[in-house]
Amino acid sequence: MALYGGIDAGGTKFACAVGTAPDDIIAEATIPTTTPDDTITRTISFFRKFQSQVVAIGVGSFGPIDLDHSSETFGYITNTPKSGWAQTPIIGKLGRALNVPLVFDTDTNAAALGEAIWGIGKGLQTILYLTIGTGIGGGVVIDRKVLHGMLHPEIGHLRLPHDWKTDPFPGACPYHGDCLEGLASGPAVAKRWGTTAESLPSNHQAWSLEATYLALALTNLILTLSPQRIILGGGIMQRETLFQSIRTRVKELLNGYVHARQIEVSIEEYIVPPQLGQKAGVYGAIALAKGVPELG
Ligand code: ZN
Repeated sequence: MALYGGIDAGGTKFACAVGTAPDDIIAEATIPTTTPDDTITRTISFFRKFQSQVVAIGVGSFGPIDLDHSSETFGYITNTPKSGWAQTPIIGKLGRALNVPLVFDTDTNAAALGEAIWGIGKGLQTILYLTIGTGIGGGVVIDRKVLHGMLHPEIGHLRLPHDWKTDPFPGACPYHGDCLEGLASGPAVAKRWGTTAESLPSNHQAWSLEATYLALALTNLILTLSPQRIILGGGIMQRETLFQSIRTRVKELLNGYVHARQIEVSIEEYIVPPQLGQKAGVYGAIALAKGVPELG
């Protein structure tokens, strides 16, 4: 039987798996992200063992990445600030060594697809997935297809209203200062308060501010995309009390304008944690490899 490979290429580790679905994984490996040569060589070694059975490999990668097939740098991790990884032709290196078709996408798009096919977005037409951690990224899946558009969405860099009196922090994004990621990522929280997000107690004002920024972003996304479910993952969302604060703020910000049962009656089931947890990315990469139309 044909098998598929999945790679969740993250900034700290590459999660690799071979199988056909979350309940049919025959091998998994976690490879630390060191230099591109070392990491990619170890990834190739893992998949070589299954080379006769694996018919395609999906790669969900940290970015920015080039997804434009007509571009000379298609399949590259491009101008990433991650040391040593800028302009890495990840797809070319994997493809030449393994000689199988590769499907390339962002790590958040892969995770969004994983949740849409096998997780908490299953059966829904339009889902939004955001990860809030070292950076902020997001993916949109519509009819079991990942939304790409011109390049791919860059939801982490949404511009938000910023009340400088309440929050004089100028933001941490090197491009925009106070975009969503600049105000609400883990490093932004750490820089604003002088300590890591994990060490801030749940009653610290940092968390109501965090809920406000995330709710502002979600409100804009609800108004733009009308998603049927919003999935929030990443390190910052391990602070579970944030979910309720975000739900409350979203309702306040929408102010009764959007008449939907999901918001008015059951917002607890509307803004939710991922069901596949840390595995959403690697399972989603397998879904990329399978090609959504083939999934029954
Ligand atoms: Zn930005």
